[in-house]
Amino acid sequence: MAEVLLEVQDLKKHYPVTRGLLQKTIGTVKAVDGVSFQIERGRTLSLVGESGAGKTTAAKAILLLEQPTAGSILFEGKDICRLPPARLKTEYRPKVQAVQQNPWSSMNPRMRVRDIIAEPLEVNTRWKKKQIDSRVEELLQQVGLMPEWAERYPHEFSGGQGQRIAVARALALNPALIVLDEPVSALDVSIRAQIMNLLKDLQDLYNLSYLVIAHDLATVRFLSHSVAIMYLGRIVEYGEGEELCTNPLHPYTRALISASAMTAQNMEEDNGARIILGGEMPSPVNPPCGCHFHPRCPAATDRCAVEAPAPKLYGTHYVACHLCE
Ligand code: SF4
Repeated sequence: MAEVLLEVQDLKKHYPVTRGLLQKTIGTVKAVDGVSFQIERGRTLSLVGESGAGKTTAAKAILLLEQPTAGSILFEGKDICRLPPARLKTEYRPKVQAVQQNPWSSMNPRMRVRDIIAEPLEVNTRWKKKQIDSRVEELLQQVGLMPEWAERYPHEFSGGQGQRIAVARALALNPALIVLDEPVSALDVSIRAQIMNLLKDLQDLYNLSYLVIAHDLATVRFLSHSVAIMYLGRIVEYGEGEELCTNPLHPYTRALISASAMTAQNMEEDNGARIILGGEMPSPVNPPCGCHFHPRCPAATDRCAVEAPAPKLYGTHYVACHLCE
């Protein structure tokens, strides 16, 4: 069995809602409300859901950009929320890197690509310039770019090439885990497959783990060993990727699959049992009682409005839905 690299246990991130000059607390936004999952070394977990589901907040907690309200994040068996800053700097931060949806958002347009990729090496190592230059060349080649392009500026590259540069920089310190936030959704469809193939090849080469944040299950299906579907801060279905995509049990997962490009074929096989969601995701400040999904769920019963379903194991995946019982 593969080694567990990252284990998230009952993670919560709540924000107070305040009002007035005195900033009186009048409510709480439960952006992430008791989420648990794990990522094995060399494997990919995708967190999938609509905007506001809590997936980006969960990723920010893992990247230490947000302090969790409760729960634990174990990396190589150590709780990163309890590690002293000096140990975080050496034992965690270099090993966990991020690639954003828009590669340019994290790059200084006035820096040459060489300096953009070299930055983490200059900050975290004592390497000499020659060593760093050689590593930058190697990284550019690994992501399918010409080493001589190191002297160019970001505006001289296409979106797909920009994402390759972002991946090269993320790889610079030999991380164990890369958080990929919507890694291909800003790219042309024709380029998406190339970037996904690159990510897959790099994963195989370096035994990398990925945490992928996505709103479209179809785009990340190819990469995902496991998938967790999030809705209003909670995981509603979680399991092995291919099994979850071919045999979704939760109505929300089925609706997401219905909405995605991959479904034309699936739905034909599914005798047209297509689920179209109505309405928007409710506000996390005042989520619906019972099952949070019940106002939009085509299969909801009276019970759903009063009793929240607990996640239970059905076959090979966990599902939080009364319908499955
Ligand atoms: Fe729909 Fe009820 Fe299942 Fe919630 S518990 S997903 S409302 S059937």
